[in-house]
Amino acid sequence: MALFRFQRQSFFLAHDFLDNFGYCMTTEEQIKMVKKIFEAYLENKNLRKTSERFAILEEIYSRSDHFDVETLYVQMKNKKYRVSRATVYNTLELLVSCDLVTKHQFGKNMAQFEKSYGYKQHDHIICLDCGKVVEFCDPRIQQIQTMMGELLKFEIKHHSLNLYGACNRLHQGGICENKVTN
Ligand SMILES: [Zn+2]
Ligand SMILES: [Zn+2]
Repeated sequence: MALFRFQRQSFFLAHDFLDNFGYCMTTEEQIKMVKKIFEAYLENKNLRKTSERFAILEEIYSRSDHFDVETLYVQMKNKKYRVSRATVYNTLELLVSCDLVTKHQFGKNMAQFEKSYGYKQHDHIICLDCGKVVEFCDPRIQQIQTMMGELLKFEIKHHSLNLYGACNRLHQGGICENKVTN
């Protein structure tokens, strides 16, 4: 089956790609939308709608990769935002609670995050040597989820599937560009 390479190191099966990407929001439209969702969430929970929280949300939605708290914090500092690590951490947790951000634990590394609104359901392959994360989407996984839910009488809410291995670079050339030497 043909594979499409999508931005963000992603691989989607052809028919899946066509079914799900008929309409594509621009980044601006998406940011506007997620701000509205976050605003409603904060109001509902009686939490303060601070400009820092919205700046963090915007920063997350203008990037398109997996990141840890520290990377996001440094990126915001570099852009001269006045945010503390604690605020970045706490805002990320809020964004996870309202499903705007997904939190991942890839191996023993620090938790990694990624935006989730308007982004297709996918799974990950992680390189054990360099930590490189590649995304893929195979509709068969969704089918297994639906079938197992029906069979075992569960209403499945979400799943996580991480595959671990050595990327080709290391396998073929003996080096992995990002390999951490210790
Ligand atoms: Zn690697
Ligand atoms: Zn991902």
